[in-house]
Amino acid sequence: MYVCGPTVYDKAHLGHGRSAVSFDVIRRYFEYKGNEVTYVSNYTDIDDKMINRAREEGITVPELAAKIIPIYEKDYEALGIKKPTIQPKATDHIKEIIEIIEKLEKDGYTYALEDGLYYDISKFKHYGELSGQNMDELQAGARVDVNDNKKGPYDFVLWKLQKEADEPAWKSPWGMGRPGWHIECSAMTWKHLGEKFDIHGGGLDLKFPHHECEVAQSVGAFGKGAFAQYFMHNGFIQVNNEKMSKSLGNFFTLEDIFKEYDPQVVRFMFLQTHYRNPINFSDGLLEQAKAGLDRVHGFVRMLEVATGAGDSSLDLDKYKKNFDGFMDNDFDTSGALGVVFDLVKDVNTLKVEGKLSKKDAKGVLELLKSFDEVLGIIYPGEILLDGKVEHLIAAREEARKNKDYKKSDEIRAELLGMGIVLEDTPNGTIWKKA
Ligand SMILES: [Zn+2]
Repeated sequence: MYVCGPTVYDKAHLGHGRSAVSFDVIRRYFEYKGNEVTYVSNYTDIDDKMINRAREEGITVPELAAKIIPIYEKDYEALGIKKPTIQPKATDHIKEIIEIIEKLEKDGYTYALEDGLYYDISKFKHYGELSGQNMDELQAGARVDVNDNKKGPYDFVLWKLQKEADEPAWKSPWGMGRPGWHIECSAMTWKHLGEKFDIHGGGLDLKFPHHECEVAQSVGAFGKGAFAQYFMHNGFIQVNNEKMSKSLGNFFTLEDIFKEYDPQVVRFMFLQTHYRNPINFSDGLLEQAKAGLDRVHGFVRMLEVATGAGDSSLDLDKYKKNFDGFMDNDFDTSGALGVVFDLVKDVNTLKVEGKLSKKDAKGVLELLKSFDEVLGIIYPGEILLDGKVEHLIAAREEARKNKDYKKSDEIRAELLGMGIVLEDTPNGTIWKKA
């Protein structure tokens, strides 16, 4: 899989979070089904936005990238995104970029203007097919673009010649300059996944022209059948029915939202909507996600201390089949979460009826753990997953049994330091996030 990553000139916003979570879950589901996934997601670390922002801040472009990339990594980790197998940067692939452009030039797809080398889309008859555009109509209605000398309004730059001395530039057969935006993804997929690979993902805003241009470049260079076999695009995020933008003042960075909400709540909120559908973001949506997630977390804590003998008629295979069924239907996480809530409801009913055994509870916990390999939201944070909290709670129980109250208090304090509050119930100790 290859998923177009962000241009690292500014902090990650909601849209970045949604795209990363959407494709993380898709990757996790492939792995859950026993596939080995090579997941490549890039950082665009050179383009006009990078150059302008670096100028504003009085730093170099590489310094800007080195400042912003760790912010993305931190936010992605908080959202429970599994680290991509490979996280390439555009500027590490100048050699491959030049090689592809040379192939395109040799095969007659390019022409030179005074500011760089361009792709002539009239030479690629499949241009527009991915996004279902009628190019004749599109061309007729096109605005005049930045460069009036282009042969067609949708021709795009492959190699930009250096204009100002402070612009990062590399040597190339066309002169000192830098790659256009689209070419980096053709180069990075080629280097890390080969001429042909399975899935290409990204936000819907990238479908046209970015992905259309990637296809023109890669299929142009490597022939029919090359490049991604499937394209997948996640839907937009609107805020109170308006497009999210800085000028409208409804722009949210992940950092801002994480100040108010646990990143897991944000992840849960994304998964409540099918990845292809738009999300109309609001505080209400986050509150709703928080309530839902709290319910699941409370359920897990209840199961962990459940007692009771015997067997109920709980058919766990049915839930797994339903869960997989929704995920098999174009990764319908909204339906899959519905299965989790069915389980919560049904098991709670059993509990109320006094029919929930310890054995059942253990089976449900195991099932939830396997669902969580895909969803990454059921267990509150990695601390539970690595067993540290359980381990400390067990050690505290042990100390209390031995009437070593000093030690028991120390462990309680240690857990509190980790943001975990304990509550002793007749059935044992349960815990929650402070
Ligand atoms: Zn791309």
